[in-house]
Amino acid sequence: MQTYLTKSALELAQMMQNGELTSVELTKACLERIEKYDEQVNAFLHVDADGALATAKEVDELRAAGAELHPLAGVPIALKDNLVTRGMPTTCASKILAGWIPPYDAFVVKQIKAAKLPILGKTNLDEFAMGSSTEHSAFGYTRNPWNLECIPGGSGGGSAAAVAAFMVPLALGTDTGGSIRQPGAVTGTVGAKPTYGAVSRYGAIAMASSLDQIGPVTRTVADAAALQELIGGHDPLDSTSLTDGATNLLAAVKSEGDLTGVKIGVVKQLSGDGYQSGVLDSFQTAVEKLVARGAEIVEVDCPSFDYALAAYYLIMPAEVSSNLARFDGMRYGIRVEPTEGPITAQRVMAATRGAGFGAEVKRRIILGTHVLSSGNYDAFYGAALKVRTLIQGDFAAAFAKADVLVSPTAPTTAFKFGEKTDDPLAMYLNDVATIPANMAGTPAISVPSGIAEDGLPVGFQVIAPARRDDLMYRVARFVEETADVAASCPAKDWE
Ligand code: GLN
Repeated sequence: MQTYLTKSALELAQMMQNGELTSVELTKACLERIEKYDEQVNAFLHVDADGALATAKEVDELRAAGAELHPLAGVPIALKDNLVTRGMPTTCASKILAGWIPPYDAFVVKQIKAAKLPILGKTNLDEFAMGSSTEHSAFGYTRNPWNLECIPGGSGGGSAAAVAAFMVPLALGTDTGGSIRQPGAVTGTVGAKPTYGAVSRYGAIAMASSLDQIGPVTRTVADAAALQELIGGHDPLDSTSLTDGATNLLAAVKSEGDLTGVKIGVVKQLSGDGYQSGVLDSFQTAVEKLVARGAEIVEVDCPSFDYALAAYYLIMPAEVSSNLARFDGMRYGIRVEPTEGPITAQRVMAATRGAGFGAEVKRRIILGTHVLSSGNYDAFYGAALKVRTLIQGDFAAAFAKADVLVSPTAPTTAFKFGEKTDDPLAMYLNDVATIPANMAGTPAISVPSGIAEDGLPVGFQVIAPARRDDLMYRVARFVEETADVAASCPAKDWE
């Protein structure tokens, strides 16, 4: 492997600015690594070598001509395959979208193209971003570069595995209940979910619109901050887009000083029973190191968090059942006609959805339709919304006592394939620590904090108040400083 492939995106950008590396060289090295190892890892559903190299060549020529470029210009990136890309297949890892070529770019894709980052391709995910292991992809599961028998997390396992395996320095994911952060935790990478509204969702194929956010998947906190700055900003095409979203993120990471005066709240409900001992040890060690850097620790009590998972599995499927109604066999992707009987719109729709959606997607559509039905709405959906308000209240009280909140990102390290596929509830429990932030729209990041007794990485979560993504990145930087996990990934020695 070219040794520079283990460097961060900002370091690579600097090398290009110094004339030590060209974007074409870097992009070719990434493509070679994908070619060599992705048959095994299956991080990518689509690779666009020609498109990426064309952008790289353009960047090199512009740089040679002395043009002013975005600081990350020329650094390759991979996109989760639920972000629409004009002219490039977008499947959501579902058979129902096989063959669909979007006619437009997501807002974030437009930003990336404008800044001229070569797009290497689209990464694997659980179908329509529903899952915690990438085992629900219709196109085969992605393997974890730390241990090829283990899951890379989900739903964004493809983006996390691609970054962890040094196939690409930057990637994007989406996080509805933890799908950027939990894959980050189990692959030793950094994954950030911005404040709800800080990054436009235009062109992110909706799972649960009130919870979904697009965010960075990287190897360092500074790279994540730089990438969020690039993809963020106001977008009139997303009605929930903030007009004054998070800014000065990279500056916050680079700012001088330690954590003196910063109050860090350890959430009582987000550790203890059900968490692996190696995860708790790594968490504790990281907390002590933050104290050594001047932070003050306070314990915060968020009693409603105990109900977050249950409320999420009512609100999320309700929104899923509505959002996925658009896949009707008429407008996007495949169309399946019933094998017998009349061809009516309703029967084509039923045949298409029956053949096109996988079991987990169907389970959630049925659950969502059930909780929204007139006899159940108040008892289930209405009650879950009340719990959501209580969670938001708990956050408000916690942030009155602490500047940021911390917890392990996921209760365990990466588990083996098949371990939880027959038990949806066990699978859902992976997100117990990540879901509260989605329920309240607060920014949250997972940073590698160490390696557990089983030799697998552990993630540390930092949650900040809404619009304080800068503070989240600043604190996260001090966790990262204590554990150079990404560099220990066995993928480094492949070859
Ligand atoms: N694992 C969670 C779920 O299955 C979260 C998914 C996500 O964030 N997209 O719903």
